[in-house]
Amino acid sequence: MSFQEEITFIYGVEYGQVMKDNFKYDLGLVNGKVYINGSFVAVDIYIKDQVISEIVPQGTELPCENIVSCISKLIMPGFIDPHVHINLDLGEFRSADDYESASKAAAFGGITTFIDFLDPIINVDEFENRFAQKMKEAKDSYIDYSFHTTVGNFDDDVDKLVAISRANGIPSIKMFTTYSESNRKISKEKLQEFMKNSSKTSTLILVHAENDYMILNAEVDDTLEQYERSRPAEAEILEIEKLVRIVKDIPGKLYIVHVTCGSSINLIKEECKELIGKNIFIESCPQYFHLTKDLFEQDNGNLFLLAPPLRSADEQQKLKENISSIQTIGTDHCPFTKEEKMRYKVASKIPKGLGSLEYSFSLMYHLFGEEIIDKFTINPAKIHNLYPKKGVIQKDSDADFVIFSPDKTLMIDSGHSRTDYSPYEDMLINGLIESTVRRGEFIVKNRKLVAKTNGQFIER
Ligand SMILES: [Zn+2]
Repeated sequence: MSFQEEITFIYGVEYGQVMKDNFKYDLGLVNGKVYINGSFVAVDIYIKDQVISEIVPQGTELPCENIVSCISKLIMPGFIDPHVHINLDLGEFRSADDYESASKAAAFGGITTFIDFLDPIINVDEFENRFAQKMKEAKDSYIDYSFHTTVGNFDDDVDKLVAISRANGIPSIKMFTTYSESNRKISKEKLQEFMKNSSKTSTLILVHAENDYMILNAEVDDTLEQYERSRPAEAEILEIEKLVRIVKDIPGKLYIVHVTCGSSINLIKEECKELIGKNIFIESCPQYFHLTKDLFEQDNGNLFLLAPPLRSADEQQKLKENISSIQTIGTDHCPFTKEEKMRYKVASKIPKGLGSLEYSFSLMYHLFGEEIIDKFTINPAKIHNLYPKKGVIQKDSDADFVIFSPDKTLMIDSGHSRTDYSPYEDMLINGLIESTVRRGEFIVKNRKLVAKTNGQFIER
């Protein structure tokens, strides 16, 4: 008797049938509309061992442990926030969210991966310590995470730092063109060295672009009313002009974080439209699309303070007109409590930063609809080396999903972050994120937290 005949004899069924009955997918998401290649299609998704195992026509019933029906819902890839600050230490203040609370808020906002920043370093030797510190903090995360290496006034071997950073799964280095007063401003020579390295290694060079000289020499009072003029739109536009010149000369990969002004993007388009999406990547944040600098003049203006500042309605309008030239939306999430924000009247003493993680996608979807999806999924995944593990619904990718009801609405409140307010409070938003799945496990299910902190460091 052959092996197969023996099996058939024992079980009374065909060998193949026995194998099939024993095999079960872990999770099936059926009857929803699934975002694949830029549009929504009617397919079912089956998940096994944390990854997408099968995508099949609707109605194909596969053996599965847990089937979830998603009728009248949209299923998108889990969102990626490439710019968050968690546990940021500012001396007198520390940002309100640790990994537990930030990742919970993120999960309610459909974000399944975020990228935080290591604290700035001046020498290569400091890297190990900064990396170990963040890895320790991030153990409490509900969602997957990665980091960007950050340099201050870096004074060491650029190639060596990039090599060590990449060896630890971090192919991105963040730097500042301002904050010389706290020794965080990168020199022009070092910035060029990083760009040169980037042109060879494709390492992403993230730049906070504001002109240091203009900020240091701004003739304004240290008040909320004049805060925007202390770091004006022109400071961003001028610095971006300088960066564009560097990239035209040295074609590395420049990623400009938190662009606040439509004029900055118009300038890049005039100078080198063809480099956008190839050598120049533009990130903006929901706050610059929804809030304007007039808010600083309200009695509670402190609550809206951040750096770079909110801009005029005119700049905001230009930013909206340029949405198609923006590749990614990051939040720059860095909330503080009301009491902390309101403690001082002098602008320079107020902790700068807002919380947006939980409402980032909703705020942008409300303004732009489906056009915004790629900026939260495939674009950040590709630009930040997470693709095709993240950012896309296809076979073998991580089973990260957002289950979304486009017909429901959401009223914004302080949410799940550890701060006690939201700058968008009481806004009524179209669309509701119902559930979030991270590597095949529901973190949020029907607006309830149902998972344990099980996030992983993702090597990029
Ligand atoms: Zn930031």
